[in-house]
Amino acid sequence: MSKQDDKFKQLVSHCKEYGFIFQSSEIYDGLSAAYDYGPYGVELKNNIKSYWWKSMVLMHQNIVGLDAAIFMEPRTWKASGHVDAFNDPMIDNKDSKKRYRADVLVENYIDKIEGKINKEITKAKKRFGDAFNEEEFRSTNQRVLNNQEKMDTIAKRLANGMRDNNLADVKALIEELEIACPVSGSRNWTEVRQFNLMFSTQLGNISGEAGKLYLRPETAQGIFVNFLNVQKSTRQKIPFGIAQIGKAFRNEIVARQFIFRMREFEQMEMQFFVQPGEEMKWYKYWKDARMKWHQAIGTPADKLRFHDHDNLAHYANAAVDIQFDFPFGFKELEGIHSRTDFDLTQHQELSGRKLQYFDPEREESYVPYVVETSIGCDRMFLAVMSQALQEEVVPDAKGNDSTRTVLKIHPALAPVKCTVLPLVKNKEVLTTKAKEIFNQLKFSFNCQYDEKDAIGRRYRRQDAIGTPYCITVDFDTLEDNTVTIRDRDTLKQERISISEIENIVKEKIDMKQLFHETETVA
Ligand code: ATP
Repeated sequence: MSKQDDKFKQLVSHCKEYGFIFQSSEIYDGLSAAYDYGPYGVELKNNIKSYWWKSMVLMHQNIVGLDAAIFMEPRTWKASGHVDAFNDPMIDNKDSKKRYRADVLVENYIDKIEGKINKEITKAKKRFGDAFNEEEFRSTNQRVLNNQEKMDTIAKRLANGMRDNNLADVKALIEELEIACPVSGSRNWTEVRQFNLMFSTQLGNISGEAGKLYLRPETAQGIFVNFLNVQKSTRQKIPFGIAQIGKAFRNEIVARQFIFRMREFEQMEMQFFVQPGEEMKWYKYWKDARMKWHQAIGTPADKLRFHDHDNLAHYANAAVDIQFDFPFGFKELEGIHSRTDFDLTQHQELSGRKLQYFDPEREESYVPYVVETSIGCDRMFLAVMSQALQEEVVPDAKGNDSTRTVLKIHPALAPVKCTVLPLVKNKEVLTTKAKEIFNQLKFSFNCQYDEKDAIGRRYRRQDAIGTPYCITVDFDTLEDNTVTIRDRDTLKQERISISEIENIVKEKIDMKQLFHETETVA
């Protein structure tokens, strides 16, 4: 098993052991691609949502929120193109009877070639040391050049096949690349077919097609159909945005990689309505703003990259992904799409209702263009956890080396902000004092009281869930009203007075610092 696989396995078991994420319906052996967020998971997820929501709605006078219903009038999905075109190409292996996404099989093949390139680069880096110039190496090393060309040719052919719905050529590509089923090892494939990803259900009082309802596969359409309601009720002027967080459902063909690809997941989407012709300016603005948002919480720049779409969706005139270096490689975390006036025009046509904005400066009405930012809350959760979870060698109480598992999560996102610990549990004077402090702090932020086990083990448990501060109450506390405050990252312990705790913790966990870093000028 590779180091990366190990790291991923460790992450999944950490999420379970420490109450972040459980498999859905686990006692019935689980439901695939559905997950439940445990006590610390729900706190972290709420903090991620709050960071996103505030960075959109609080930080922009011209972005307002919405919470639309999951069920929508079925024609919504006809207008948006989802009924006819929200498909993934699937292929079955006749021997293992396993089903795959045909495009993902090819993409995995491309990833393997990229892996070879990265290996060459790592080797060369070691050989040349400081003198190594990656750009030059990439443009001159023949093996790298050959592999890059191979990758580009395959990616282009796949993109063309997908764009033209030429599924026979996607199958031919899989055969030419001699891609085998990872389970049976055989290349005995069926034809490639399109598979619609929308879940449907039935209205109680209407039978047949007429009562067919879809579970929304994206939150965006709830925003489009409410565009004028929101604009008129809040008197917004273009450019303005509508932000929404909510569940989305997709009947993914292959749902693997933990919470990366789920059938029920949560999206954080913002649609920004602009004057036609100004969309590229805003597209660049949001690319920049969203990258800053990711970096502000401490994600290193080399763990994030932009990836332009090879194959533009039917509604877009420009599209880019922000990819994150997950334990299984760089994959899409967020999409930024210039959606033109496609959605509003389609809804206008099918509903017969005008969805136009009267521009008082231009003295004319028009259907605005839209730039969208769309991020999966669960994927963001996975990115945060995989970046934060670390093993470190640190000195123990006797000064010997010991390994600790620590979740180095940004304090603003940490599920628990501070834990109050009596030094020992069987001294009532200490537990009473510690509970008193806890009862003061609980009004200000998510705080815990813990008296179980030796103090060292309690610190380790807090490290494992990412608590930025531990407050220890000892016998000196009873004398002079001071406590020790232990910093999760530096392990430094300082003596401070009880009255200082609240402000120290508040300053550390304040999201304000993040918003200063993410401020972007149009
Ligand atoms: P992918 O190519 O990985 O299937 P997509 O391009 O279909 O994703 P979008 O339709 O752009 O994804 O959705 C916006 C965001 O929603 C994605 O960037 C991702 O973070 C999230 N997302 C999409 N599908 C899923 C899923 N099945 N499980 C979890 N998150 C998802």
